[in-house]
Amino acid sequence: MLHEEARRDVAAACQRLARDGLVVGTAGNVSVRIGEHVVVSPSGVDYDLLRGEHVGVHDLDGAPVEAPLKPSSEMPLHLAVYARTDAEAIVHNHAPASTALSTVVDEVPTSHYYTAMFGGPVRVAPYATFGTDALAENVAAALDGRLGALMGNHGALTIGADLKGAYDRLAYLEYVCEVQLRAMATGLPVRTLPHEEIERVAVLLGSYGQTLPEDDATA
Ligand code: 13P
Ligand code: ZN
Repeated sequence: MLHEEARRDVAAACQRLARDGLVVGTAGNVSVRIGEHVVVSPSGVDYDLLRGEHVGVHDLDGAPVEAPLKPSSEMPLHLAVYARTDAEAIVHNHAPASTALSTVVDEVPTSHYYTAMFGGPVRVAPYATFGTDALAENVAAALDGRLGALMGNHGALTIGADLKGAYDRLAYLEYVCEVQLRAMATGLPVRTLPHEEIERVAVLLGSYGQTLPEDDATA
């Protein structure tokens, strides 16, 4: 099976989205780019039943290379993002906080320093019908210089150098949106962080985290 490991990883990421409460039903999609190929989740398949062999391989125009099912309806979006960014992986969902916030702001306010994880304030792409080239264009534009975007009245999308990076970023984006919504719900003015602070944090986050010694990592 072509790109067997990546296809299994895409199926596993869809299942993890469900486990982590980051999707309702099949309201999301996942892809990985491997050279001239895009490995993308199929449209509307129950994540509980999804396995690697159901995940399709397409070329960068969307033509099937090895795909037993219809690809995600957001294929134009995934292709546009790969064409316009350095992304190697994309995760899209309709989680509640990001979706709710996408209906009331044009940009996620910088209330949390994690804004730095996305390359700066996260923009909200204007609404367009799901699966359309118009939506793909709006989101690709909103991603300019960013690693994530909200999709107006729809959901969120993050990109990464690999699937883990894109996935983790989406979880953090949901958290940032949740914090912002809770702060707004108090009715009090929400303090935001200045641009310089977000830039300072971006540098610090670049060296944040450490790997366990090899023996502990496999325990
Ligand atoms: P698919 O199941 O076709 O990937 O669609 C879900 C979705 O998120 C549409 O925007
Ligand atoms: Zn969607």
